[in-house]
Parts: sequence; structure tokens; C-alpha cells
Amino acid sequence: MIETQLLSGTVVAAAVKEEVAARVVALAKRDKSVGLATVLVGEDPASEVYVRNKRRTAENLGIKSIHHQLPADTSQGEVDDLILRLNEDPAVNGILVQLPLPAGLDGERTVNLIDPTKDADGLHPSNLGKLILGRPGLTPCTPTGVMRILEHYGIEVTGRHAVVIGRSFLVGRPLALLFNQKGVDATVTMAHSRTPNLAAVARAADIVVAAVGVPKLVGPDFVKPGATVIDVGINRTDDGLVGDADFEALQGIAGAMTPVPKGVGPMTVAMLMHNTVTAAEAACSRGNRPSSPVVVER
Ligand code: NAD
Repeated sequence: MIETQLLSGTVVAAAVKEEVAARVVALAKRDKSVGLATVLVGEDPASEVYVRNKRRTAENLGIKSIHHQLPADTSQGEVDDLILRLNEDPAVNGILVQLPLPAGLDGERTVNLIDPTKDADGLHPSNLGKLILGRPGLTPCTPTGVMRILEHYGIEVTGRHAVVIGRSFLVGRPLALLFNQKGVDATVTMAHSRTPNLAAVARAADIVVAAVGVPKLVGPDFVKPGATVIDVGINRTDDGLVGDADFEALQGIAGAMTPVPKGVGPMTVAMLMHNTVTAAEAACSRGNRPSSPVVVER
């Protein structure tokens, strides 16, 4: 009988945050403070919770939280102007726009306006492009957090077969790129809603990642005995928060597995802080100049 190892995102996130706090102190010794600007438009309760959590984490790590709360009827022009001001503000090293934006505002346009060197979420096309090219850049928080969990627990990735279920630009696609980067060298299958025989595809994997949004989709028929299961899903159900994998049913089958909650979730916030301090260090080496002016087409 396999004893399934618990991969605790809380434990790994604590290690990442400890590293970030030390890097913030090192910058302070060079008279450089670190600032994270958060932009929340409207009053979506879930978004408010997410932003509050990010602000609190930043402050706990010595990162200055600079918050901008805008009413739901804010115009796209006003959002654009705020982003451009934050791009120019030397006290701001990371900019996070909480998505989704209210109806009538264009989230993609807004993210594209962020100076890529301040793109704390790692979702600017310039940073996603660097990921494809295998160049250093700020990488998306959730997929990077998944890789950190695997690294922390010494789960072998090189030469292994990873099946990533879900192809969103937020999680699945960038994660597939991280898995097959040079030096990481997993073989990757990207599966999605149109993949036939999904269970059989997943069963071929050494590492199965579920980033789908379907409660308990990944059951025993999806997992080869001993394989690692990373559950990115967060689904609010009548039974509380549930992942995309069936945690109980996979005990004794998966070799190792993340829980929900306290799995990938805490890593997303930790990697946001990691990106912010990385951006601050880079700004410090550049002498605080933004990378290049952002031109807005009106
Ligand atoms: P998304 O809706 O943008 O993408 C879902 C993907 O799953 C799509 O590519 C789709 O093709 C695929 N899919 C849908 N139904 C499927 C099915 N039945 N079989 C196979 N594939 C299917 O979602 P997302 O933003 O990538 O988020 C996915 C899940 O991860 C959600 O539950 C979300 O809440 C969660 N999430 C968690 C974190 C975190 O910090 N833990 C961060 C982001 C997203």
C-alpha cells in the first residue's frame, strides 16, 4: 500500500516568504524600500478578500502596500491613467490589478499597460513571451508556485511525464512551459476540455496537475499508482472548498499530493511577493528607471 505524502503549500509558502523578507531587508540596507501597488475596481467580495490577503502578506514581509480602490463606474481612461502613474512611480516596484474588472472595463488592455518590469503577476505579454523564449522574466505566480512545491519536496521532474489538465493563460499554458524549460526538462502533455479519453491520458503521467475548475474531476482512474498529483482547483461547493482532485479517494494511490485548501493557494500569494522583490532588485540595479516608456493608444 502506498502512503501518500502530503505536499503542504503552507509550508513551502512560509519558506518562500522567509526568503522574500530577507531580500527586503538586504534592499533596505542599500536604502531601497519595496512597494507593491494593488488596484481593485468595484466591490466584488471575493476580490476584496484576495486583495486584503495580498496587502497583509506584503506588509508582514516589510513590503509597502500602496492600495488604490476605485468605484465600479470608473472609466477605462481613469484606470489607464492610474496604471501609467504607477509605472512612473519609483516607490512602486510591483503592480497588481485584481481581475476580473467590472463589466465595461478591459482587463487585458489594463494588464498590457503595466510596465513589464513591474508586472508582479507575471501576466504581461512581454513576460509570457520571455517564458516562451526561455529568457529570464517575471513568471505567473500560480504556475511558478507549483514548480516551487515540486522543488521543495524533491519531486523529480527531469525526464518525467507531466500531464497538465487545463490550458488557461493564467495557469495551464504557462505551467506547461515551465515544465519543459531547458534545465527542467519534463515531457509535457497539455490536456483540456476537448481531450478524448482524459483519464487514460492522465494515467500515463508521473505528475498530474489539475487546473480545471471541476470539483473532484481527477479520481483514482486518472492516477497511476505512485504518481504526484498537484491540485490547483478552488471550487466553492456546499461541502466547502473542494479541489479538482478527489483528495480522499486518491489516498493510497497518489505518491504525493497537494491538499485544497493549503496547497497551491498559499503559493500564489507567496510568489506574488517573490516577483515584487525580484522586480525591486532589478530596479535597484537599473537605477530605478522604468524599462521603457509605455505608449497608450487612445
Ligand atoms: P479557466 O476556466 O480559465 O480554465 C479552465 C481550463 O480547464 C480550460 O482550459 C478548459 O479547457 C479546461 N477544462 C474545463 N473543463 C474540463 C474538463 N471537464 N476536462 C478537462 N479540461 C477541462 O480556469 P483557470 O483560471 O485556469 O482556473 C482553474 C482552476 O484553478 C479554478 O478552480 C480556479 O479557481 C483555480 N485557480 C486556483 C489558483 C490558486 O491560487 N490555487 C489560481 C488560479 C486559478
